[in-house]
Amino acid sequence: PACANCSTFKCKSVTPTNERRFCIMKEIILAYQGEMTLKGLNRGKFEARLSKIIRWRLEPLGKFKVYQAQSTVFIEPKEDGLDMDEAFRRVSHVFGIVKLSRAVECPKDFAAICETAEAYLGETLRGIRTFKVEAKRADKTYPMKSPEICRELGAYLLDKHHHLRVDVHNPQLEIMVEIRDYAAYVHGPKVEAAGGLPVGTSGRALNLLSGGIDSPVASYMIAKRGVELEMIHFASPPYTSEQAREKVLQLARELVPWCGRLNVTIVPFAEIQEEIRRNCPEDHFTLIMRRFMMRLADALARDLNCRALVTGESLGQVASQTMDALAVSGDVTDLPVLRPVIGMDKEEIVRIARHIGTFETSILPYEDCCTVFTPRHPKTRPHVEEVREMEQALDVEGLVRRAMEGREVVKLR
Ligand code: ATP
Ligand code: MG
Repeated sequence: PACANCSTFKCKSVTPTNERRFCIMKEIILAYQGEMTLKGLNRGKFEARLSKIIRWRLEPLGKFKVYQAQSTVFIEPKEDGLDMDEAFRRVSHVFGIVKLSRAVECPKDFAAICETAEAYLGETLRGIRTFKVEAKRADKTYPMKSPEICRELGAYLLDKHHHLRVDVHNPQLEIMVEIRDYAAYVHGPKVEAAGGLPVGTSGRALNLLSGGIDSPVASYMIAKRGVELEMIHFASPPYTSEQAREKVLQLARELVPWCGRLNVTIVPFAEIQEEIRRNCPEDHFTLIMRRFMMRLADALARDLNCRALVTGESLGQVASQTMDALAVSGDVTDLPVLRPVIGMDKEEIVRIARHIGTFETSILPYEDCCTVFTPRHPKTRPHVEEVREMEQALDVEGLVRRAMEGREVVKLR
């Protein structure tokens, strides 16, 4: 058995399978870098950031050693009894990593590799019928070539498990052996991880976060490209409720495992909406409101040193998201406006929302500021000059200033 005490390979402190060679079989996590391996001179910066994020994400679970070599991050538990399932789950959300596996380290001696494979995966092998072995040598000086390792380890395992058969095309379990510089690693198949680039390597942007389905998906997509996000939310009490505000904070909390720490700036929006309703044509109401959102976001972005705005707008989804309407709302800011879901159908957006875990919160039924005072027939082909003219009736500067003064920051870790 893998462990003399509990007979499972998941045991954290496996006893000697062979006193001659190794006394503790320790499970570690191997995280494989994604496209950041293509970075030239900047690669060190990307790697440092990746390690930092992983350490920071694992810190609440206990002591881990995190280091990188050969395009792989090694994550080693440094205490007994750490929750490796949770550690694995957390690392799988870290952008910059494409694949992950749980592995055991062993000496490069081939007999040790065989014994480790049996100790670690024997239990699993007993429950299946087909397997295959894949080998990879990062250490090209290793005396055995990859095909030989596969063949020999395969034969060793077949000898231990007579019911097993090798199936190279469609095995139930693929056993991987990696021969690296200082040790060998044995593990099952790699699983897909988050992909993308480590958050913080592509600068910083300000995300307009509503309580809907789209904007959290936009946050995820931009964070995935390595952008560190700040959040801005417009709330209109007393028209919007405490629950609506809590819902947005909950969404932001659900984004933290992907995006890292988040600050949500909540900006009061009721006065602006009341003034627009009092002074502007009803069919332009939403559009002018959106221009104010962009103005406020622009002001905050400059304050927070953000280089772009991020929204969850999708072309044609509603009247304020036609091409003409987007041009009119984008007219008030010089910052690039990133709209990662612009070309996506609702269904595709929902699929991502489910994947990242924000969907259930997004569909809670609390009113957003966009749903108060909605016009019956919103303008779909607005003209920017006309809209600017309509805004002459408003004290734009004063409204923006007062809203900014009323802002409040909630920090989520
Ligand atoms: P969602 O709300 O899921 O993003 P939606 O279809 O409801 O999608 P709109 O309400 O038209 O979209 O808003 C478009 C975008 O404007 C949002 O994706 C978001 O980026 C921004 N936005 C809308 N309302 C707010 C708000 N109250 N606070 C901050 N940003 C907002
Ligand atoms: Mg919305």
